[in-house]
Amino acid sequence: MDAQTPITQDLLTIPRKMPEGLPNLVGMTRDVMRDALIAAGTPEKQAKMRVGQIWQWIYHWGVRDFATMTNLAKDYRAMLAENFVVAVPEVVTRQVSGDGTRKYLVRIAGGHEVEVVYIPETDRGTLCISSQVGCTLTCSFCHTGTQKLVRNLTASEIIGQVMVARDDLGEWPVPGAPKDETRLLSNIVLMGMGEPLYNFENVRDAMKIAMDPDGIQLSRRRITLSTSGVVPEIARTAQEIGCQLAISFHATTDEVRDKLVPINKRWPLAVLLDALRSYPKVSNSERITFEYVMLDGVNDTDADARRLVKLIDGIPAKINLIPFNEWPGAPYKRSSNNRIRAFADIIYKAGYASPIRTPRGEDIMAACGQLKSATERARKSKAQIAQDAGL
Ligand code: SAH
Ligand code: SF4
Repeated sequence: MDAQTPITQDLLTIPRKMPEGLPNLVGMTRDVMRDALIAAGTPEKQAKMRVGQIWQWIYHWGVRDFATMTNLAKDYRAMLAENFVVAVPEVVTRQVSGDGTRKYLVRIAGGHEVEVVYIPETDRGTLCISSQVGCTLTCSFCHTGTQKLVRNLTASEIIGQVMVARDDLGEWPVPGAPKDETRLLSNIVLMGMGEPLYNFENVRDAMKIAMDPDGIQLSRRRITLSTSGVVPEIARTAQEIGCQLAISFHATTDEVRDKLVPINKRWPLAVLLDALRSYPKVSNSERITFEYVMLDGVNDTDADARRLVKLIDGIPAKINLIPFNEWPGAPYKRSSNNRIRAFADIIYKAGYASPIRTPRGEDIMAACGQLKSATERARKSKAQIAQDAGL
């Protein structure tokens, strides 16, 4: 392949077939794993210690094979192998963008596929993970929202995305090696396919595993959950996960937001903003990220920028402006660079950080809102998309 070619399509397929039917230890909470080990014959008194040992093998060392778990007795390892599997989703394809972004298509039970995107930056490496196959919501600018087929991912499938990315990045620690402080995968954003707060328990359990100090060990400050605004679950996110929150805001009037983010009809701006006001205190986090997709002639005027600043007054916030990423059949256009800059300027002058998100991995359709697995062919017609958008 010549050096100029921006995309390298790798045929990496790691076989991860698991014996049918055996429970997968990946994704179990510590309590559930303890009960499962006891049910398989582990003496109750030892169960907590065994969970600790197995947990470290799986999440600290990245080990999948019971035979390698050398601090467990041989018989015990055999018992584990008879009763459980340690399995992560299968990577079907891996694409690398000209800008270094990696997109993985992973296959989960039932033959569904979801996309996972790794974005390297100078000071961090962010993994964008999915929480559902498709999305039940129908935001009119979002490609995922046009996909018909939906199911919630299990906690195992959610944390499994982090594990396959670490496999690919070669980031599991090697015994005896010096501690690596500069992680390739240092941040997680729940900004892939799906609405994470419609799959609350599984997302919570998976993120608890990601944060667990005996395993992957990511600080809750390095995990950001993005929601379209499922108000009743926002307080729970603060209490039960405590991660950073991003909100898909995208409009400054209910009239426009109803069209762009239809969940707004259920929980309109005033109700949403109320829920957001309590978030930083309850979760002890710093700032809420307001995501704002820039759509030409729809939500991008100076008046919008001023209204936005007014609405979020008093909330510790950062506003992330996202140039709209186009997809086939999309009913919108991206605002011009000048318009985005003028909008950003108003926000900046009001005292808010207003970074403009550089689209990453566009050449491999890995940018925000472009994710949609090729296998999920059933999708709405153009006419249906336009109708949903109220156009
Ligand atoms: N369902 C969640 C998380 C996934 S979407 C949510 O809506 O917040 C992640 C972000 O990408 C959201 O802010 C979403 O609004 C934005 N997005 C969706 N489609 C987009 C597109 N075509 N261009 C730019 N951003 C998009
Ligand atoms: Fe679902 Fe988020 Fe896309 Fe809306 S923007 S359709 S909530 S994935």
